[in-house]
Amino acid sequence: MAQKIKNIAVLTSGGDAPGMNAAIRAVVRACSYYKVNCFGVYKGYEGLINNELEELNARSVRNIINKGGTFLKSARSKTFRTVEGRQKAHANLVKNNIDALVVIGGDGSFTGALKLSEEFNFPVVGVPGTIDNDINGTDYTIGYDTALNTVVDAIDKIRDTASSHNRLFLIEVMGRDAGDIALNSGIGAGAEEILIPEEDMGVERLIESLKKSKTTGKTSSIIVVAEGDTSGKNIFELGQYVENNLEGYEVRVSVLGHIQRGGTPSCFDRVLASKLGVGAVEALLDNKREVMIGIVHKKVTIVPLVDALKKRVHKHDKLIKVADITSV
Ligand code: ATP
Repeated sequence: MAQKIKNIAVLTSGGDAPGMNAAIRAVVRACSYYKVNCFGVYKGYEGLINNELEELNARSVRNIINKGGTFLKSARSKTFRTVEGRQKAHANLVKNNIDALVVIGGDGSFTGALKLSEEFNFPVVGVPGTIDNDINGTDYTIGYDTALNTVVDAIDKIRDTASSHNRLFLIEVMGRDAGDIALNSGIGAGAEEILIPEEDMGVERLIESLKKSKTTGKTSSIIVVAEGDTSGKNIFELGQYVENNLEGYEVRVSVLGHIQRGGTPSCFDRVLASKLGVGAVEALLDNKREVMIGIVHKKVTIVPLVDALKKRVHKHDKLIKVADITSV
């Protein structure tokens, strides 16, 4: 029979995402509700290696549900990628009598969590916290909705200047492997073209399409480009290429960058984080191990971590068609 869980630790790892605080709060309060002790680990896996743990109670997480970032801090830890690093992390978990670990982060953080679990038979549960929405087995990751709204807001502002000057703007948004932010923000902000990693549009077709738009009377244009687009050119090279091959527009490039990670979490992200954080504690108390808590069709689901780490099968076809139709 599995050992009864008395002490749970929680950490945030990888890129920070709005709603991580709400997820920590939910984990801490679920522990309090179920009479389990909860420990916060500062600075992700790096803090675990350096034994930076502190006991948290329901009041320690007051007034954070509305705050962006993560009060536990996040980190990218090179040491945790080594067996020696994970040995130190595990030794600190044992030293502090921790029975299970909740990891809030993206796929890299889950890979680390899985290794910790496999190498030391240590119970872990993952909570998907990343703005990229690139995790298999969950419809949404914490932070994605807020990032999307931040991007749409920024593009709306850029459109004002684009239309005042007959400019064509290329706007780079986050998404190395997943085009979710680009595609949805592009549709939401009325972009003329959207370039995503999952679909190779080709630069020639892009120019043809922009020329066609011009003949229909468009005087300014917004092109949303995901970081990981497959044009083979970086955003500035792409901007230059468009300028060289398209007459009548001044081309400008805007890289939105880290602004996309910040800000007050949306209500959607707060509710999602609350559901997943509570789900993580309940799963552990129900003896679930090596799993991620996700959301599918609005229902909280428990997915094996190995499946969460598989390449996401995500068909964008319908959205791409909507983008094509609404940008004629
Ligand atoms: P985001 O999607 O926002 O970038 P992430 O969780 O994918 O978040 P990473 O930087 O990839 O962010 O991973 C976070 C941390 O997880 C790393 O700094 C490292 O400590 C740990 N990690 C990642 N990959 C591995 C691995 N292969 N083995 C052990 N630990 C890993």
